[in-house]
Amino acid sequence: MDDPPEKKIVFAEHQEKHLKASERYIPVKFKYADAYWEGWVPIEYRRSGLNIKTDEEVLAYLNHVYQMMSPENIPAWRERQKQYWQTNAAKATTTKAFFEVLAENNQFTWKCVECRLPANPNWARRIQDLKDRGYTLATDTKRYCHLCKANKTHVMLLPLPRGEEVAKYETISPKLRKRIIRLFESVDVFEGSKKSHCLPDHKFPEIRWDGNVHSENPDYMPEDEIRQKFQLLSNQRNLQKREVCRNCFQTGRRGSVIGLPIFYDGGPLWDEKFPKRGLEAEQGCVGCPWYDMARWRSFVNGLYAAHIESHLHKTES
Ligand SMILES: [Zn+2]
Ligand SMILES: [Zn+2]
Repeated sequence: MDDPPEKKIVFAEHQEKHLKASERYIPVKFKYADAYWEGWVPIEYRRSGLNIKTDEEVLAYLNHVYQMMSPENIPAWRERQKQYWQTNAAKATTTKAFFEVLAENNQFTWKCVECRLPANPNWARRIQDLKDRGYTLATDTKRYCHLCKANKTHVMLLPLPRGEEVAKYETISPKLRKRIIRLFESVDVFEGSKKSHCLPDHKFPEIRWDGNVHSENPDYMPEDEIRQKFQLLSNQRNLQKREVCRNCFQTGRRGSVIGLPIFYDGGPLWDEKFPKRGLEAEQGCVGCPWYDMARWRSFVNGLYAAHIESHLHKTES
């Protein structure tokens, strides 16, 4: 009955698009029962760690994107974004105005930055903010605008789950995923107890990766490397961590848990001596509870043990 999705994906132009060194796109046309979408799907997006290389990976990714962008999925996507902007991002009204235009009438088409986006000389910062919040956008720096009657930069928002496409496309094979979960004995490190649906979490948050932090995760990764690189979190904590780390990336204020301003290294502010992104940025994350919850917990336990100890000495003397 239904054609396999591959047949519903038409490659609109032969060549993939390289606009900046850090972004690659595949121009496609997605055909659905009563609708179609034409646009560019990012296959490399340095900020988010998305980097799809082989033809098979591209096809698998496009199939995935095709399904996620199917018209029947849009209302639920829209509802989740509504909640996001109301609860998690209530103060980001300037960026929200950009989101609203880019998602206007659920038409995810090219929007000219000169005549369609909100008038704002810093539009590029707003677009970057949307990307930092996990949205997927394509940028075409040379597209003819019929209103401006000239080539102008156009931007397009893709209705994909925020940030999640990265988690799904991280190169952790099911085999390695199982090994990691088994090694940590299914213990959700945030709760400190066994949970049935934990996910490996890269301690080093993706928002601080750049092209040099391309992580290879072989199935046979040694156990000490697994322990150094990953921890186990529930999906919910995973998403919470994304928000915390994005906030830290943008404001320089590090995350905390249960309102405790305790860091096992450094203080509540990101140390400016570390670069914001790339391999060396990881050192700036060290000390934050979200970076290594097990280490943070043992540090707090140490503080408590010292407290008990000093209390004992007081009563002795
Ligand atoms: Zn225009
Ligand atoms: Zn962090």
